[in-house]
Amino acid sequence: MLSNVKWLGHATLKFTGKKIVYIDPYQLKNRDAADLILITHDHFDHLSLEDIDKISKKETIFILPQSVKTSLRGDIRRINIGEKIIIGDIVIEAVPSYNTNKNFHPKSAGNVGYILTLNGTRYYHAGDTDIIPEMKELSVDVAFLPVGGTYTMTAEEAAKAAQTIQPEIAVPMHYGSIVGSIDDAKKFEKLCGCTVTILPKGE
Ligand code: ZN
Ligand code: ZN
Repeated sequence: MLSNVKWLGHATLKFTGKKIVYIDPYQLKNRDAADLILITHDHFDHLSLEDIDKISKKETIFILPQSVKTSLRGDIRRINIGEKIIIGDIVIEAVPSYNTNKNFHPKSAGNVGYILTLNGTRYYHAGDTDIIPEMKELSVDVAFLPVGGTYTMTAEEAAKAAQTIQPEIAVPMHYGSIVGSIDDAKKFEKLCGCTVTILPKGE
């Protein structure tokens, strides 16, 4: 289930298969051209035009929530929370993502997390979020959850979120770069009581 996905540090995921898909590309080392780029919100560590530039080609499709204001040009498809976009055999759904005990990501901002269905597996990238009631409704196989604290859930909170979501595999992210460390990922694994895979930082 994780053989076709890499964690590239922080909140960056790269899916490889028939199509190359990046979510929130940031501080990239590799310049593998993207077919699809998904952005959760417009903070610099999620919407990095410098990194998007490294992996964009003429045909790259960008998926952005309505809330993201950007000078980005190209094939931009806007998505609302609750909507679905289908590109080839990839289904992309936007779900809510917001803070409840801090103000960096208010619900009113309209930031999103994504559920990507690829080869029948549902991958959830939570975005920068706290535990939110909408998580109860999610049905996903793999959940990538932020664990670094400060701007998102802490390891303890992310463990509770994983218990709520009940994915087959939970994977910690949003640590090791701007905020959080591998210790948070390990703490998450210990507290979760579910199957956790700590992915090595890929390129
Ligand atoms: Zn953010
Ligand atoms: Zn962030």
